[in-house]
Amino acid sequence: MKKLLLASIVTFSMMISAQKKYVLVIHGGAGTILKTSMTEEKENAYKDKLKDALNAGYAELQKGNSSVDAVATSIIMMENSPLFNAGKGAVFTADGKNELDASIMYGKDKSAGAIAGVHTIKNPIKAAIAVMQKSEHVMLSGAGAEKFAQDQNLEIVDPKYFWTKDRWDGLQKLKQKENLKTEKKVSQNTLPESYEIDQKFGTVGAVALDKKGNIAAGTSTGGMTNKKYGRIGDAPIIGAGTYADSQVGISATGWGEYFIRATAARTVSAKMEYQNKDIKTATQETIDEIGKMGGDGGMIALDKDGNIAMPFNTAGMYRGAITQDGEIIIEIYK
Ligand code: ASP
Repeated sequence: MKKLLLASIVTFSMMISAQKKYVLVIHGGAGTILKTSMTEEKENAYKDKLKDALNAGYAELQKGNSSVDAVATSIIMMENSPLFNAGKGAVFTADGKNELDASIMYGKDKSAGAIAGVHTIKNPIKAAIAVMQKSEHVMLSGAGAEKFAQDQNLEIVDPKYFWTKDRWDGLQKLKQKENLKTEKKVSQNTLPESYEIDQKFGTVGAVALDKKGNIAAGTSTGGMTNKKYGRIGDAPIIGAGTYADSQVGISATGWGEYFIRATAARTVSAKMEYQNKDIKTATQETIDEIGKMGGDGGMIALDKDGNIAMPFNTAGMYRGAITQDGEIIIEIYK
């Protein structure tokens, strides 16, 4: 009997140690990302950039820096890459501008910061972090947010910096289609045509777990092509596109109007907090609920024990994660 007990304890502890503990998970947007419409070169470019972003964030954690530093480092790397719809490479508004949104939340004390609708801040995630750490507010928008970033000595760029040909062509295509239409009735359930154009959305996000066991989550985006009237999506809204507490962090991507109405990110943490659901169940149920409402997209989540979930209801989502031992996974398609 004693032997049997010992054997099962050994097996159990072996199972535990075999369980991978993740410390960082990232996404580069969800959407109609199909293998058939991807070249090998493009696929490798995405994979390489995701890998770089994971390694850079991981290095912060290895140094003993906080999960906020890791999230910032990974996101900045993706904001600086034209591959993603965040920072350089952001999509265009109907007025032909790049209008950026970003947010961050730190689970330890539930502090949070966000900026929305900015045109000149090179790295929006840095501004969101400055709002969290150096202001008495949670969300700043437009010209005020830009003034704040300037006061914080963050890098300010000419709006032209964000311009890329791909995204500009995307806007022109959409405008041509729009001109062909005569009458249009819209509701909150009308699929924005940008969906067909964006194909792969490219919003970026990261969730990290540092050596002290604290979680941070962040998201950065250019929003959706042809957005009008200062439209703001879910990415800068705490509880919708981003959320972190002491047990889990979440960053979302997809059709923002639905993620806002579903309070997506906070719903995941509430399912875990009040219903004791595990991270996989909580995220999958939330994505399913968004799907039932008619929306689509995906999310990444990381809990305090190093478990991850990366569900989505689109054809693909750029995503990756790294374990505490530096082992990397990167996936794109279903
Ligand atoms: N969620 C973003 C927005 O609605 C877009 C995206 O993730 O692709 O602004």
